[in-house]
Amino acid sequence: MVQWNILLIIFLVIFAVNVVFRWLLTYINVRHLRLYGHNVPEVFKGEIDEATLSKMSDYTADTSRFGSIEHFFDDIVTLVILLSGFLPLLVSIILFYKLNFILSGLIFFGVLALLSSVLDIPFNLYSTFVIEKRYGFSTMTVRLWITDFLKSLIVSAVLMGILLGAMLALIQYAEHSWWFWVWIFFSLFQLLMIWLYPVLIAPLFNKFEPVRDGALKEDIISLMAKVGLKAKGVFQVDAGKRSKHTNAYFTGLGKTKRIVLFDTLLNSHSADEILSVLAHEAGHWKKKHIMKQLVFTEIASLAVFYIIYLLLGWPLLYETFGFNENLPYVGLLLIAALLGPIAFFLAPLGAILMRKFEREADDYCLNLLGTVKPMINALKRLAKDNLANLHPHPFYAWFYYSHPPLAERIARLWQMEDKKAS
Ligand SMILES: [Zn+2]
Repeated sequence: MVQWNILLIIFLVIFAVNVVFRWLLTYINVRHLRLYGHNVPEVFKGEIDEATLSKMSDYTADTSRFGSIEHFFDDIVTLVILLSGFLPLLVSIILFYKLNFILSGLIFFGVLALLSSVLDIPFNLYSTFVIEKRYGFSTMTVRLWITDFLKSLIVSAVLMGILLGAMLALIQYAEHSWWFWVWIFFSLFQLLMIWLYPVLIAPLFNKFEPVRDGALKEDIISLMAKVGLKAKGVFQVDAGKRSKHTNAYFTGLGKTKRIVLFDTLLNSHSADEILSVLAHEAGHWKKKHIMKQLVFTEIASLAVFYIIYLLLGWPLLYETFGFNENLPYVGLLLIAALLGPIAFFLAPLGAILMRKFEREADDYCLNLLGTVKPMINALKRLAKDNLANLHPHPFYAWFYYSHPPLAERIARLWQMEDKKAS
């Protein structure tokens, strides 16, 4: 059984602080929206009517409330799994079969991952078929939802199997230096996945093809030629089969680098707006943002693996959660449960870096096109089409947002245009 000791109390305190902090962040964000949501931000004046504005507020409030309920449920499940004696029971069943160490570890994590996927089903269904339908976004069919679910289950089982299998093998064979070798293996694997994702995994879920619109195609070719990137690297994707949300992104590595435009974006935006989005994504490409992000992640993960190594042999960790032997795969889970709530507070570091990249890509777009107007129009349309929250609480946005809040981003673009003109 679980032992009431100082480690358990520290764990529970950190866990509780994390839960309360997350809840408070959502609370101040929704409250901020209630207080200011009816004001049209300066940069949107004359372009957003009251009906759209209130729909935007409702959507943010609904998704926030739902997110809080889902988090609350997840937290309860985590506590039950850690404290109820479920884990020691699961381990004793696995040990009964006397399988080898790596296979035992894979089954241990496999059972937990499957349980978590199954428990997530009702939330996923409600979000897709109730909330997203209510706001006219979801175009998902039950059939597509089921095939998506099964495909993601298989893909994550394969990827997790490879990563965990290698990690457990290295822990077994390199007792004191595994953290370094695991880091090397994970880094190489991540590099491989970034390279393969656009050509191997993404096509399992969507169809990617060259942009169909003939006139636009010419413009794309000349824009890409201007910046010295290959036009073959621009794709459209059939995102509309799941949702009417609009987006574009840059992905891949080496020969698989590509800019992907949602078909929904191509349908709702004018040609010059689409080209400005493309110019922004080309900015991410030219400024090597994927590579820079990878370096950031690798430095952080080396530190994480070393910390895991230090904690993994600590007997108190196992005793506290009801185990009488040090099983490294159990240790990995317990350490994740311990460090996860702490690591959450480092999330803004990544978000700050992402927002810096977004501003750099916006700058690139301005320099390339010589004007910010199409970009601003594109951002305004994105805001309206996706019912973006125009009034995030500044601290909430600072903590979570991977893009600067839209009103701030547009105001910044206007300022840059003014500076250029003067
Ligand atoms: Zn961007």
